[in-house]
Amino acid sequence: MRVLVLGGTTEGRALASACAAMPGIEVISSLAGRTRSPLLPEGDVRIGGFGGVDGLAGYLRERGIDAVVDATHPFAATMTAHAVAASARAGVPLLVLRRAGWAEQPGDVWHRVADLATAADLVPGLGERVFLTTGRQSIAAFAGVDACWFLSRSVEPPAPPLPQRVEVLLDRGPFTVEGERSLLAEHRIDVLVTKDSGGSTAKLDAARERGLPVVLVDRPPLPPATDTAPSVEAALDWLAQ
Ligand code: NAP
Repeated sequence: MRVLVLGGTTEGRALASACAAMPGIEVISSLAGRTRSPLLPEGDVRIGGFGGVDGLAGYLRERGIDAVVDATHPFAATMTAHAVAASARAGVPLLVLRRAGWAEQPGDVWHRVADLATAADLVPGLGERVFLTTGRQSIAAFAGVDACWFLSRSVEPPAPPLPQRVEVLLDRGPFTVEGERSLLAEHRIDVLVTKDSGGSTAKLDAARERGLPVVLVDRPPLPPATDTAPSVEAALDWLAQ
């Protein structure tokens, strides 16, 4: 069986490793090519866009793909929409692998918002020094927020427009609670902004300890009637069937 894993996430890499270790499964991982030195999954890897729905449907047919697992980030909504449409067109089964979002805990001061624009409207009312962890493609949404100073963390440098007052921190996880605690203290952060990506809670734990408000951007909805799995194990069960 030849499986295409749409990756760029920890789960995508873990699934590729699990597939590579299984006899009878050939795995090809696909990365968008956004990072200059990506963490490469095991097995075959291809890098770069497919050229929309048509390009992906053609790729599935040409490469004789038997199953697609979309393990992209929960906010990679365009790729997921393309995967759903292209798999249907090529007649290839598709599973969307999505880790669960974060759940609020006692002591959290969370403000859930629908999108980045709403987050940008909200932050000046919550504090002046903002830790922005929404990724380099999201920073433009905060470019007009002159009332705040931002510490923006991303793997790759963000492209303009940037906020007037910003310090860019280039770093890639995993992050620890100790590390996040020091960062919040060192930069005298008073608001955290994050997407509801799920996974490691280190920054949320550190924010809770300090009683900081957190602006949490909700996930975009999945296309209707999509098969989903919350974990690599569940995705392997789906492939086995
Ligand atoms: P996106 O907006 O949903 O996708 C834009 C276009 O990028 C897609 O139409 C596709 O181009 C190409 N693309 C995206 N993921 C791809 C993949 N795995 N393989 C091949 N082409 C891909 O995606 P995005 O939000 O920019 O995310 C890009 C990558 O970064 C994804 O792999 C995602 O898992 C990872 N990532 C995203 C975030 C985030 O917050 N969005 C966070 C962490 C990691 P074509 O139409 O030409 O096929």
